[in-house]
Amino acid sequence: MNQYSVTSSSVVKEKARELGFHKVGIAAVDKVDPTEAQRLQAWIELGYHADMEWMANRKRQDISLVMPKARSLVCVVLNYYTADQRPVRAASPSGEGEEYAKISRYAWGRDYHKVMHKKLKQLATWLESLDEGVLARYYADTGPVQEKVLAQQAGIGWIAKNGNLITREYGSWVFLGEVLTNLELESDRPHTEHCGSCTRCIQACPTGAITQPFVVDANRCIAYHTIENRAKELPETITPHLQGWVAGCDICQDVCPWNQRFASPTDIAEFQPYPGNIAPHLLELAQISDQDWDKRFPASALRRIKPEMLRRNALANLDASRRKNDPESNYF
Ligand code: SF4
Ligand code: SF4
Repeated sequence: MNQYSVTSSSVVKEKARELGFHKVGIAAVDKVDPTEAQRLQAWIELGYHADMEWMANRKRQDISLVMPKARSLVCVVLNYYTADQRPVRAASPSGEGEEYAKISRYAWGRDYHKVMHKKLKQLATWLESLDEGVLARYYADTGPVQEKVLAQQAGIGWIAKNGNLITREYGSWVFLGEVLTNLELESDRPHTEHCGSCTRCIQACPTGAITQPFVVDANRCIAYHTIENRAKELPETITPHLQGWVAGCDICQDVCPWNQRFASPTDIAEFQPYPGNIAPHLLELAQISDQDWDKRFPASALRRIKPEMLRRNALANLDASRRKNDPESNYF
């Protein structure tokens, strides 16, 4: 036991809940399953991370490289689900362009990094105030940390066959955050996996990106291509299957029975959708100017998708739709 073991886990959890986190769990840093690092390495060797080179950062496989004195990791969750639903995609009577573009739920409201960082900072500052020797560093999709692995270790939920982390209470509509600390805290038991024999997500993925249970190939994933791919054009292997998605893809989450049964509306006002994010039109986004993009997506996670990428994604959908409706085309 080191000198910084004075705080009980229950006090830390209580503080996290008081700050508005919906779930909190604790993992001991030295008990992280080493086979998870091997699994990540194997995924990278297959090239399934596409050009996301940050996934290959060695720190991601060894948390002691991120913070050598870390003893515990406090994992926190924010539920972002809202009851809003996308309209059924319009089969436009007046021609292409009336069709709706689809934006992933995570990006409907205020940028989650901002919401999460504000609360994480408060939690880390509080931890450090407990004793002058206490160190605390926080991350939310911003550091070389295997978030989902650590969340499973901290008893938050399980890494599912579609690669998402599922919680019993909220399904997979959750953002994850972590505070690493040199405090020794009592850890939770790792969560068990509850996909069972279900394969709905694998069957529903239009591009076959879930190559086997628990393995997602980013090269085939619509979410990767619409958000991360910086190329001028999207690959022909992807474009026929876009189904309106211009920012992320929720197909493998929408079909998940855990999400269908346990999604519950969030109490965080910032995650309520900005007007226009649920049902924008493809034609409008295909023509959006840089200035309009700037005004339209303030404080939004969508800012990662630069205006030229958003135009590219919308145009690829319109083109796919046109070719699909062309009887001469053998596009599909
Ligand atoms: S996000 Fe979409 S493309 Fe990617 S694995 Fe899920 S269903 Fe497939
Ligand atoms: S759809 Fe089924 S297999 Fe896929 S993540 Fe959900 S429970 Fe697991």
